[in-house]
Amino acid sequence: MQIQLADFIRDTPEGREAEAILRKCVHCGFCTATCPSYQVLGDDLDSPRGRIYLIKRALEGAPVSAKTQLHLDRCLTCRACETTCPSGVRYGRLVDIGRGLVEARVPRGGFDRLARRLLASVLVRARLFKVLTGLGRLARPLLPAALKAKVPGKLAPPGEWPAPRHARKMLALAGCVQPGLAPSINAAAARVLDRFGISLVEAPRAGCCGALRFHLNYQQEGRDDMRALIDAWWPLVERGEVEAIVMTASGCGATVKEYGHLLAHDPAYRDKAARIAGLTKDLAEVIPFDALPSAIAAGRIAFHSPCTLQHGQQIRGAVESCLARAGFELTAVRDAHLCCGSAGTYSLLQPAIAGELRSRKLAALGEGRPEQIATANIGCLTHLQGAAQVPVRHWIEVLDEALQRKISP
Ligand code: SF4
Ligand code: SF4
Repeated sequence: MQIQLADFIRDTPEGREAEAILRKCVHCGFCTATCPSYQVLGDDLDSPRGRIYLIKRALEGAPVSAKTQLHLDRCLTCRACETTCPSGVRYGRLVDIGRGLVEARVPRGGFDRLARRLLASVLVRARLFKVLTGLGRLARPLLPAALKAKVPGKLAPPGEWPAPRHARKMLALAGCVQPGLAPSINAAAARVLDRFGISLVEAPRAGCCGALRFHLNYQQEGRDDMRALIDAWWPLVERGEVEAIVMTASGCGATVKEYGHLLAHDPAYRDKAARIAGLTKDLAEVIPFDALPSAIAAGRIAFHSPCTLQHGQQIRGAVESCLARAGFELTAVRDAHLCCGSAGTYSLLQPAIAGELRSRKLAALGEGRPEQIATANIGCLTHLQGAAQVPVRHWIEVLDEALQRKISP
């Protein structure tokens, strides 16, 4: 695709990056077949190809409007289009650049602006969020149905976190919303890794990975969160005390793995960011598969692979293999490449599309009549749990439970 960048962006890093990405797009439209927003809305401007065209026009200096912003807002940033594209177009980076550009030129309406500011202020503060979800649980019977579905009724107790005792140590990210919604996930990961000779530790003062504010289009604040997290982790990394940084939420993992790129133009942080990104692994990448005991569990389970795992990190089949080795029967899931509609704060800001995608996803997950659904990201978990007929859990909790049953008869 040919493009003539406008003067205001021609000699900037974003301009050069966007131009290189755009030149790869041949406008074939293959990506529309796997785009969830296009499948729901049927408008080409709600497809990757249509959005690429809108971003191209904005980069060339054409006027942008609230309509341009709406089509970009409706994108789930699921990156299914990247997996499908035969030309290797890095749509995710392009849409970040396009959104930043449009956001700077199109002021949002009062309610939209307020809702976004509120989400960006509350969700990244883990302690505040924990207090608010605690209050939400108390008031749950009085909440409207849409909000009720977002607040888990009962928190599973986290259980024991084994004291660090192994020479091998890995760092886990507590994250921002996960401790308030499911503190049991990281504790389960710590117990499973402990069995295999790895101690999992968390760094004090480590907060949000930055994805939340970055994808709400507060890109500068998102980068500030990334720098703060690097600062919290750096002493442990610099002293070589941890061999990897483990992500139990694939959404955070997809972002932290891109730190090197996202902070490439920050001379004070780019080297640290690249080192952190290189150390980062999804939990499924560090479980020693060959050491997992086999046939210790039974039952039918459907795995929902989050977009941030399968498209963002390009990890496919690893979780399913662990669960199958443990003895679970993995049910077939139609259209497993499609987003469930969670997508960070998308389910709150675009509830109609998110709700439709969730209904479709739950129907597909339910076709094999599973007894439970497993997933790998807290956002997908809470979103699906809001309407699922069977329990939805993080896969490491399912595995942890199976391992505990095997040991204690
Ligand atoms: S992004 Fe890829 S698949 Fe989509 S229109 Fe461009 S080249 Fe084709
Ligand atoms: S990221 Fe997902 S929703 Fe956005 S254009 Fe690509 S496939 Fe469609």
